[in-house]
Amino acid sequence: MKPIKRIHSANSRIPLKFKIWMYFVAFTIMVFVLLWLFQILFLENFYERMKTKGASDSAATIAASYDDLDSEELDELISKIALENDLCVEILDRYGRSVYSKKVLGDCLIHGRENSTYIYVRMISDSEDHIIKYKIKNPRSNYDMLLYGCTLGDSENPEGYLLLNSALVPVGSTVSIIKRQLMIITALLIVAAFIISLFLSRRIARPIDRITKSAEELAKGNFNTKFDGRGYLEAKQLADTLTYAEKELSRVDTMQRDLIANVSHDLRTPLTMLKAYAEMIRDLSGDNPKKRNEHLEIIINETDRLSAMVNDILDLSKLESGRQKLEPTEFGISSKLSEIIGRFKGISEKMGYNIHFAPDEERMVRCDVVKIEQVIYNLINNAINYTGEDKQVYVRQINCSDGVLIEVEDTGDGIEEDKIKLIFDKYYRSENHKREVIGTGLGLSIVKAVLKLHGYDYGVRSTLGKGSTFWFKINA
Ligand code: ADP
Repeated sequence: MKPIKRIHSANSRIPLKFKIWMYFVAFTIMVFVLLWLFQILFLENFYERMKTKGASDSAATIAASYDDLDSEELDELISKIALENDLCVEILDRYGRSVYSKKVLGDCLIHGRENSTYIYVRMISDSEDHIIKYKIKNPRSNYDMLLYGCTLGDSENPEGYLLLNSALVPVGSTVSIIKRQLMIITALLIVAAFIISLFLSRRIARPIDRITKSAEELAKGNFNTKFDGRGYLEAKQLADTLTYAEKELSRVDTMQRDLIANVSHDLRTPLTMLKAYAEMIRDLSGDNPKKRNEHLEIIINETDRLSAMVNDILDLSKLESGRQKLEPTEFGISSKLSEIIGRFKGISEKMGYNIHFAPDEERMVRCDVVKIEQVIYNLINNAINYTGEDKQVYVRQINCSDGVLIEVEDTGDGIEEDKIKLIFDKYYRSENHKREVIGTGLGLSIVKAVLKLHGYDYGVRSTLGKGSTFWFKINA
């Protein structure tokens, strides 16, 4: 067997374990990049948006309940909201005077600063949607503060104004804490990812490495190689497939060896005979016409046998290579069967064989006549070869609605159940074959190849000790 030639693309030169490891590490890095981006870069932005949303939601809740609640209930609601959202709440009347204030924050921008509240009221009235949202630096603490303002009641003719104020606690310190934590987590996890992925990738690649080694053994022609697919399902499937391929290769290998042995044996016998009889004519019977003719007859028969064998080998190789095309013609099947049976007349008379033919009504069929002739010939030939002591062979034509069934029956030993699958195989030959009629061990393989090419059904029924019936059906 030829060594396997390996063709690698640039990409396929990277081992699987390294690839898995690379993907895993890349994935981990990606996760960390995202984490760092969100936690460090976008944190401030995110925090501000959350705060603004918190303030506008709170304002909406307070504004919605303003008219419906009495002052005690309103105070309770505002206290709750202010506490939950870290807010200063200021309610102004329509002139901008403070009528209510709630202070949760230590540092409140609007609380008790009448002048500034008037400015905000003006800003709310001037703004298009009567809402203001500002980020203002608190001059006292230097912190950024969020200021949110809106109208209460009808926005065109407001009953009053609502101002909310919340401190935007600088996230810088939080970021640096998170950064430190993240650095430790990142370092730990990268090391962990590195180790885990290394371990994982090895585990995944190991069965494949093992199977590859076994496959190399198989490629060297060792058909006893075991494929170990432990690990995971795909490895097991691969190992099973290779085990199956190994069995098939081994079978074909044995068959091929058998064929060479059979063919060379079959060629040697006629060749030895040819040489022996030619020498006999030269040395002994050359001058004796009767003896000479006898010897010449044997030489002619053996030559026929040789050429039949060579023809079979050539036919089969042509059929199997797909180079043979069908040449369908129309002909009467009954007369064709009679004609083929007629060809066995010589041997039947000489050796006492009896071929019974049960024809049905003549039916025209359309197929490659030369090849179907060969099928029928091979089946009758085998029946004669393998029939029992009574030397009877039965050929039947049975017309059906969808074609013509042809059966060839003998009274021989029959074929064992497990052999039936094998007899149509190329190179298969039972050990106890008789050699009375020319046969090459390829007869049934040719039958199978021709019938498959036509798309016809075929098969064999056999009872041990009673005989076999080979059949095929010519489709209408
Ligand atoms: P050959 O007859 O030359 O050995 P074939 O391909 O025609 O080769 O047949 C293959 C094998 O199938 C035979 O060796 C024989 O074992 C079996 N076989 C074929 N025809 C019959 C039959 N009619 N009865 C019993 N066995 C048969």
